Formats: sequence, C-alpha cells, structure tokens
Amino acid sequence: MKIEETAPESIQDMLQPLVDGRFTFACHPGVPCFTECCRDLRLMLTPYDILRLKNHLQIQSGEFLDRYTETSCDERRNLPVVYLRMTDNERRTCPFVSSSGCQVYADRPAACRIYPIARASRMHRLHGKVIEDFFVLKEDHCLGFREDRAWSTAEWLEDQGLESYDGFNNLWMEIVTHPALRNGAPLSSKQQQMFFMSAYNLDRLRDFVLGSRFLQLFEFDREELDSLADDESLLTLGFKWLRFFLFNEPALKLRREK
Ligand code: SF4
Ligand code: SF4
Repeated sequence: MKIEETAPESIQDMLQPLVDGRFTFACHPGVPCFTECCRDLRLMLTPYDILRLKNHLQIQSGEFLDRYTETSCDERRNLPVVYLRMTDNERRTCPFVSSSGCQVYADRPAACRIYPIARASRMHRLHGKVIEDFFVLKEDHCLGFREDRAWSTAEWLEDQGLESYDGFNNLWMEIVTHPALRNGAPLSSKQQQMFFMSAYNLDRLRDFVLGSRFLQLFEFDREELDSLADDESLLTLGFKWLRFFLFNEPALKLRREK
C-alpha cells in the first residue's frame, strides 16, 4: 500500500513525490508566512523530544508534562501518547512560538525539524530490512516552496539536526510497533503507568531506578551506574527496561541468586 493511501486522510492530497530526489524550499524570518505553521497542531512528542525540551527549559520532566502536554491513549493497545498542548487562545498557538520564531529552536521536536519532508518506513517482505520513502508535504499556506534553495533529503535531514533524534526515535519505534503490542492484549493499568514513566517522565524514572529494588535485581557495572545521571543514558535504560518488562526480552541482565 502506498503512503498516499496510509497517511492520515487530511494530508493525503498534499503529499508529492520528490523530483530527482530533490525539492526546493527555505524557511526563514523573511518569508511572509513566518511562524504561521506553529499553531493549531496535533504534534506528537517522542520520549527524546521531551528529554530535549525539558532540558532546554531547565525544568523537571514531570513539570514539563504538566505544563506543556496532554496525553491520550491509543484505544486498541492502551498506549499513552503525549502531544504538545497548544495555547488556549483563538489561534491555538504553540506555547513556544514568538514573533521572532521558535523559542526552543535548538531543541525543537523532530516533527518540526523534518517538515516539509514526510518519511514513510516499512519492512521489506523478503529481506526484512527497513525501507524508507520520502515525500514532500506541500501545504497551501506554506510559502517556503517559492524560495529557490534546492535540497536532497539527506542534506535537509542533516541541516535540521535530525541525526541525534533518529537513534532514539528508531529505538522508540521498535517498541511501539513491537508484535507483542500489535497482537497482544491491551496494556493493563500497571503496564500503562510503567510505560508512561519509563518513556516520558525521566526524572521519575531516575527516582524509581535509584530508590527501588531495581539495582538489586539487575546487574550494572560502575560505569553504567555513573552514567544514570545523564538523561540520554537513562532513556536508553528506560527503553531496555520496557523491553524486559513488557516483552520479557533479556534486554537487562538479572543478578544471579546467591
Ligand atoms: S509555513 Fe512554511 S515557510 Fe512559513 S514558517 Fe512555516 S514552514 Fe516556514
Ligand atoms: S516547537 Fe517551535 S517549531 Fe515547533 S511548532 Fe512550536 S514554535 Fe514552531
């Protein structure tokens, strides 16, 4: 099935193939529509988006989640999905937009970085490798397409700093598309809470790891323990813990009984 058919209906007509692998686009304060797109969005945040934003704002993850997000549950699997909450004003503006642009630009979410590219990935039926297809999402209000800067998708992804996001977001995709979640029973309330904390509420995850029997149950060397002060290492541990807890995979090593 083609991405034009599987993408949300609201954007299917806007997806256009790249011409010779390239597209023409630029976004800067000089375009007449500058910041026009930073409003009325259903912007899903990944765990790594939240890590970057809460550190940019220098607040704890719990405070970030309370102040800037709303959560809804995927009906079939009970998976909590976190969205950036738009401001409660007439235009439903993003909480981080100002007349001079994005106030969290250096740590803006991956969805803001990748636009106007849409990426579709699928598993090849025969060799099982992930295949990526790229499209341009051409929205009428976006005048960036009138600019004459040409890009390949690789140039665009590099320019927008998506590399550091991709590693974490790919690990995240592997969890939320895991066959055990796709085909299994919906998450119980306890699984749902653990899922939310391990993926989205990093500072609470740190308290859980350091303050429960976690470190007695699993083997960690000195270096791994020291690295838990770092949010990226902690998120990596959170993903491993979810694989252990939800899918029974040996992503963490249990200590041997003495
Ligand atoms: S609408 Fe397009 S060109 Fe205008 S600010 Fe948004 S991304 Fe940039
Ligand atoms: S986070 Fe920044 S780039 Fe993204 S919608 Fe908000 S203001 Fe715009």
